[in-house]
Amino acid sequence: MSTSDNNPSIIPPIAEKFRGVMLFGPPGAGKGTVGRVLSIAGSMVHVSSGDIFRSLSPASPAGRLTQQYIQKGELVPDEVTIEVWHYYVNGLVATNRFFPDKQFILMDGLPRTVEQARLIERYVDVQHAIVLDMEDTGELITRLKRRALIEGRADDAKDEVLQKRLDVYQTQTAQVLSHYPAELVSTFNADQPPLHVLRDVLAKLADTLTSQTRPLAPQS
Ligand code: ADP
Repeated sequence: MSTSDNNPSIIPPIAEKFRGVMLFGPPGAGKGTVGRVLSIAGSMVHVSSGDIFRSLSPASPAGRLTQQYIQKGELVPDEVTIEVWHYYVNGLVATNRFFPDKQFILMDGLPRTVEQARLIERYVDVQHAIVLDMEDTGELITRLKRRALIEGRADDAKDEVLQKRLDVYQTQTAQVLSHYPAELVSTFNADQPPLHVLRDVLAKLADTLTSQTRPLAPQS
């Protein structure tokens, strides 16, 4: 959407940066589960870039373009990813589903490249990064195949697409972590059952993430 002085948008631009908690981990590590649980308490809004892409109509130009990459297990180009994400998040703010002055944005699956980390800095002030670390690739593949049966995701069903996504994580996304100061990064063993991963994340970060929540702004 474009905004000009003659024809201003009726949705005002967002002045401040969002406060972000970033969620990293290979496909199948449990980012979605951790994201959903952390968002239940209300101080965070969970935004998954994969879910955003899957919600696009396959008939729309953005849906057609992004599906070409997703079907192969490749990354959607950086500029397109950030543009679609930003448009979506602005929609959450405009429809009162995300209150940036009161809530964190829990970023699941973005940034996935160093370039995305750089581009996102314009919009997000990174407060913490949660890394779900998994050594056992065999277990990742088992989980993804189980998910393929439950969620029907085509990109979980084919072995070569799964392998490509795991390779992309190792070669491109894992490097993004060095972009952030070590004291902002917490790594968790995600080879454990989901409830144990959640227990570890909450035990380590509940205080940090609560104390960083801003007081509620007075309603006008
Ligand atoms: P998973 O982490 O299980 O692989 P996601 O739902 O996060 O699944 O992503 C599914 C697909 O969507 C990715 O394989 C990729 O094609 C695309 N995608 C998601 N996030 C990004 C991103 N930040 N940059 C580029 N492509 C992305």
